[in-house]
Amino acid sequence: MEYISTRGGLSPVSFSDAVLMGLAPDGGLVLPARIPDVSDRLDEWSHRSYPELAEAILALYTDVSPAVLHDLVMRSYAAFDHPEVTPLRSTGDVDLLELFHGPTLAFKDLALQWLGNLFEHLLAVRGGELNILGATSGDTGSAAIHGVRGRKGIRIFVMHPRGRVSPVQERQMTSVLDDNVFNLAVEGSFDDCQALMKRLFNDQEFKQRCALGSVNSINWARVVAQIVYYFYAGLRVRRRTGADRVQFSVPTGNFGDIFAGYLAVRMGLPVSRLVLATNENDILARFFNTGVYRVGEVSKTLSPSMDIQVASNFERYLYYRLGGDAVQLTARMNQFAATGELAIEGAAAWPETCIAAGTADTAATIATIRTFYEEHRVLLDPHTAVGVHVGRQQRLPDDPLICLATAHPAKFGAAVKQAVGQNLAHHSLLDALRDLPTRCDTLPASEEAVRRYIAERVT
Ligand SMILES: *Cc1c(COP(=O)(O)O)cnc(C)c1O
Repeated sequence: MEYISTRGGLSPVSFSDAVLMGLAPDGGLVLPARIPDVSDRLDEWSHRSYPELAEAILALYTDVSPAVLHDLVMRSYAAFDHPEVTPLRSTGDVDLLELFHGPTLAFKDLALQWLGNLFEHLLAVRGGELNILGATSGDTGSAAIHGVRGRKGIRIFVMHPRGRVSPVQERQMTSVLDDNVFNLAVEGSFDDCQALMKRLFNDQEFKQRCALGSVNSINWARVVAQIVYYFYAGLRVRRRTGADRVQFSVPTGNFGDIFAGYLAVRMGLPVSRLVLATNENDILARFFNTGVYRVGEVSKTLSPSMDIQVASNFERYLYYRLGGDAVQLTARMNQFAATGELAIEGAAAWPETCIAAGTADTAATIATIRTFYEEHRVLLDPHTAVGVHVGRQQRLPDDPLICLATAHPAKFGAAVKQAVGQNLAHHSLLDALRDLPTRCDTLPASEEAVRRYIAERVT
């Protein structure tokens, strides 16, 4: 499989090059040159285990040999604490797809465990090293750290705003003591951390000299790993219910997760609807309902991993919506960069997209956690609750609805307590964190200080 750029300025590259590239040199995002059609393999695939299915799907998109791919996949999903990796739980009107059985109890582990193994392999083949730099307000940083801890040829530097991430999230990061992991508590806000990161990445000399890379959600290897659970769950629910088609509801921030679902549909998974669920940061829901994509202010909500205004993977979807026309796409993205707004005529009426979107505000999120607990004795984390609320609102009446459960409720105990009166959500991994030693360095929010810290450790 060869890879191209959404902006049309990249001669086709291999999977490995696409993964190591991050953003394409023309400023676009990489995409496969074509989307494989697997509709004649669905019956056979519906009997596969998660790792077997992952191997079959990843083989369509990657250029690593079958033996290596097998090894990478087996190691990546052995890190999960459930034999099915992503088990389904039936609860009345919805099936919950539990994506939180990885080491940091959130769905990002499914992609980042695989990405860590893949990077280690690519570096072993090509030589050299990679120094990952990231800024986090919580979830991504810990999943990335757990994805690359102890891996040869890789170091990771993660900045978080000192004292401003939740105690659980802070401990999930700082209790990782491997030599290649550096936690930086920056004396500033999350925006300061992000601004520092951008400035360091924009310094080409520093970036080259320190072999800086990132693991953000535009990385193609992350997207492709997320296709697997749509097939896994969709085929299982079809087999169990006899339904022809299924629906998914996806709590959405950067549009990475639901974009993987869109690819699964394009590959031939029979899906009648993908429900895109946002919290109050609803730029995507507004786009799918009005055709206008306009940035607003970010508001803080109970589902912080979805507190995003500009969805970094959205450009990939837009490329397909514009019929793969890179010239048009580039014009729209330039317009968006200049004005903060982009309009697509007739977007609300795209019949073939099968995406329907809606929003759950804080009150709806809390009410959903409470009633779901009363009805089923099952606790939802606030991100999942957004998906359940909007999924029930936007679903088609007949086909089964699978709601992606993107985090374990114990990660967001305060929201659970607010909804059901006490914090009933526990997880032994999180309880154990309390007693673990931690390591973290505190730095001022200064470009020079972060630059020196990294340079001293990599060169
Ligand atoms: C990252 C995240 C999301 C949003 O996923 P996107 O791919 O950014 O749309 C939803 N829920 C949780 C718990 C997350 O960590």
